[in-house]
Amino acid sequence: MERRGITVGIDLGTTYSVVAHIDPATKAPAVIPNELGQRTTPSVIAFGRDGSVQIGSKAKTRSEMGDADTASFYKLEMGSPSFKVSLAGRDMNAAALSGLFLKELIAQCEKSLGQKIARAVITVPAYFEDPERNATIEAGRLAGIEVMGVINEPTAAAIAYGLKETAGINKILIYDLGGGTFDVTAAQVSKDAVTVLGCGGNHYLGGKNWDEVICGWVCEQFEEQFGVSPAEDKETYNSLMVKAEKAKQLLSASEYADISVSYEGHSGRYRLTESVFRELSADLLDITHKTILRLFEDIGIDWKDIDGVILVGGSTKMKMVPDYIRRMTGREPLKGVDPDEAVAIGAAIQAETEQYCAVKTLGGGQRGFLMGADRSAYNMAQLKGAKFISDVTAHSLGMISVSEDGSRFVNDIMIKKNTPLSKAEVVKRRELEVSKGKEQELEIYLLQGDAERPADCTAAKKYVFGGIEFVEGGKTLLDITYRYTADGTIDIKALQTETGRELDRREEPVPEDMSWTEEPPAAGQKQIVSDTGGVLYMALDLSDSMSGAPLQMAKESMKNFADQFDLARINIGIAGFANKSKIWLEATSDRNEIMKAIDTIDQCWLGYGTTAEPLSVILPKIKRYRYAGFRYVVVLTDGGWYDGADKKALKIREEYVRRDIEIVGLGFGTADYNFLKKLSTRSELASVGDISGLDRELLKIARIIKE
Ligand code: ADP
Ligand code: MG
Repeated sequence: MERRGITVGIDLGTTYSVVAHIDPATKAPAVIPNELGQRTTPSVIAFGRDGSVQIGSKAKTRSEMGDADTASFYKLEMGSPSFKVSLAGRDMNAAALSGLFLKELIAQCEKSLGQKIARAVITVPAYFEDPERNATIEAGRLAGIEVMGVINEPTAAAIAYGLKETAGINKILIYDLGGGTFDVTAAQVSKDAVTVLGCGGNHYLGGKNWDEVICGWVCEQFEEQFGVSPAEDKETYNSLMVKAEKAKQLLSASEYADISVSYEGHSGRYRLTESVFRELSADLLDITHKTILRLFEDIGIDWKDIDGVILVGGSTKMKMVPDYIRRMTGREPLKGVDPDEAVAIGAAIQAETEQYCAVKTLGGGQRGFLMGADRSAYNMAQLKGAKFISDVTAHSLGMISVSEDGSRFVNDIMIKKNTPLSKAEVVKRRELEVSKGKEQELEIYLLQGDAERPADCTAAKKYVFGGIEFVEGGKTLLDITYRYTADGTIDIKALQTETGRELDRREEPVPEDMSWTEEPPAAGQKQIVSDTGGVLYMALDLSDSMSGAPLQMAKESMKNFADQFDLARINIGIAGFANKSKIWLEATSDRNEIMKAIDTIDQCWLGYGTTAEPLSVILPKIKRYRYAGFRYVVVLTDGGWYDGADKKALKIREEYVRRDIEIVGLGFGTADYNFLKKLSTRSELASVGDISGLDRELLKIARIIKE
């Protein structure tokens, strides 16, 4: 159903929220003020006795006065099944609270614009997991608007920045320090695209922690002077927190702030200088620093690669933040985007782009969150600065599986963190035992997180697949597709290969008690994990003797070899070795990537002689495929291995044998047949011949692997 009204972008913040739209007169983004004329609205709700709802500054004041019928910081509880507040006789979760807040905020914005608001793009922190994203979408729905989609806050900020001149700016860092959270994102910005490279963050770090530091300092001074601490009394402490926040904001503009507090008949007044404030909170700033370094490590970049830094969030107004950026980059943070408004403005641009694309490409006001190139083709003409966005997954997606030895449940990661959303889709073929005349169902629990123990991850979803038909032999093969949508939410489907039919899917709430994942699995539970696909690594000798024709021929043979396999069933990775060894491509089922990696393997050139072996770098990658039907490493080399590389390889081979990972060595040129035979776990496949015969040898291996 199409709603009538305009399209907006909403930054639904932990502490403050902002609504923006594209002004039709100027075609420029503009913030829509609330009923008090403010551009940012405190994300606080207060309930009246009569059930009326107040939001924003009025509600915040009531909350500061100690009114119990108020709610704030509920965004931190988004999607949490156990969070409920009872206000004015109503039980509400965070989505319901956000929905009420949004409904009122939207009504105020409609009044100040004189127009109805029909739909919105809402922003979420990049680290929000599936339940939090869905709760945000639910909040918008409860507020009575159509949620076109959710996008990540830092991505929105980058889009807002894109309206400005981007000349000379390539890789940017978005540093978002809000009221209760810290979010950092690295992105590549070009004239018409924002490509997110990776993100990181801290759920529990924000302006509030800086307020606490000030509060703590005041309480200490007070206690020294009077022997009692205002922290002993909750009400006094709460009102001190309000003063601390005000003092903090003052320190962003002046050199000192005075804070006075009265408790148990004593009154104290303390002057906090900006430099003392900095010292007191140095540890907090350092947490943001460490988070950034971790992100850099994850995506393989460094401060020197960063051309500009965008500051987002009210807390980046603290002088120590831009100073820190200057220290790390040697230049000023990028200007021209208001830290309070950037996110909402980016969301408004995105919403408008989306709306335009949807109308253009899908018709009938359907929502089209287009991730394809067609999107960028449309957007520029209509809206200056609109960008094609390519975001990444903030969390690894895995499922609860049984460990290789059957002893425990583990998180089997299928889509890794910081994978581009457009590529965040994998198909896994799994074998399931089916018995005649028995209704068969398959339960799948999806996890978000990188830890091996399911209990250390977020159990994001539970799906039950039904309608599985019996097949002769009692074993069926299911193709299960796992993917992230453009919203960063999870989607999954399953196909029974024998019937070609998609299975019925139902979503069930994730049980609160997941302690069973800590217990040993029952015998029958192993069947859902058997993965009949395989993984194959090709390791190519890149020593100097290979350069020229041999390398070209080897590349052609490798491509032919890769094309022998059904990539729905197998992942292929590439490594190079010479005087070092290196993973050139982690195993993937993306044919384009595999071909590209083979084509560009010259660029991986590592040095002259063969003094390194490839097995040690491949082992940690390949051993992760615990349930693969087969795991193979094919080593291609044109000469002897020196400086102990051969001995080292034979040593690591033992580990391969222990794990049932197969090695096949193929040689040409001056390669040593005896060595390759010893190295290969399938020694009958090892061979040494002319490079022109490589194709034939590889095809033979492909045939055997496929069997
Ligand atoms: P969120 O997105 O989490 O709602 P915001 O980006 O609106 O948060 O930032 C709110 C935080 O910014 C609060 O902790 C507030 O105290 C802080 N803040 C706002 N203005 C200033 C300022 N001038 N100086 C320092 N901190 C500020
Ligand atoms: Mg924010």
